[in-house]
Amino acid sequence: MSGSGYGKTVIDGVIQYLSPSGITCGDPTQAGGCERRWYYKYVLGLKEPFTGSQRIGVDAHTQIEKYLESGEDCMGQIARSARQFFPPLEAGMLLEHRIGKDDLKVAGIRVVGHIDLVLFEKNHVEVLDWKTTKSIKMWAKRSQDLIKTVQMALYAKWAQSFLGFDAVRISHVYMQTQGRPQADKRSVILSAEKIEKRWEEIEARARILSDIAKETDILKVPANRNACSDFKGCPRRNICPITTKDKWPALFAGLRETPKKTNGLSIIDELKARKTK
Ligand code: SF4
Repeated sequence: MSGSGYGKTVIDGVIQYLSPSGITCGDPTQAGGCERRWYYKYVLGLKEPFTGSQRIGVDAHTQIEKYLESGEDCMGQIARSARQFFPPLEAGMLLEHRIGKDDLKVAGIRVVGHIDLVLFEKNHVEVLDWKTTKSIKMWAKRSQDLIKTVQMALYAKWAQSFLGFDAVRISHVYMQTQGRPQADKRSVILSAEKIEKRWEEIEARARILSDIAKETDILKVPANRNACSDFKGCPRRNICPITTKDKWPALFAGLRETPKKTNGLSIIDELKARKTK
């Protein structure tokens, strides 16, 4: 899979770089996250469709960036709804900042990405991401949950380690795309300790993805059944081989990998016995 001009993500079983969206895709703790989906996308190189919702988001981002860069207002009503959260045009800021080649590594792997807005305050730096959503009420995250996203954790680590700030504010500004145009901001300041703790989890996830990248049998790549229907549904549902083991992983915990009869009971018999207990 090639993305944003960086080339293939995985070559000969070795990850060349990781992006926030890439790690999110392969993290079962994130909405829509599934290691097997990550494998389809980045190891087998199967592109995913670009959705109408993503188009709306890209348009709003472009319009806001243009306004903050030049003062030229070509914003539609979705982008304009967030105007109350724009910094003054003369503020010290970076727009659509591209993370540099050697700026940040996760488990030794280059991190790539573009940060929508970096704002320099007196005692801290703020990293902000513009979000579009059908419903702020339903989908906007709580401020304290922003650090649980891969994206904001990566950006916070970049601001801390590359820019050298101890305290980092992470923010989402949500713009609603359906119903009355409106926007809201969620924001929290993180200490160095909090960023470090979350970073350990992100590094652990990167190491898991490194192992998965070397796999040659897709059936050995864990499937996250909980993610199959997230958002508009996984685009690989029509080809993904979901096995009995994928459907009931807890039932299989502790059972042998190769089904065979023991004590007159097959694996299926053992599973049925467990289910009826
Ligand atoms: S269909 Fe489900 S299990 Fe298969 S790759 Fe997609 S999310 Fe993962």
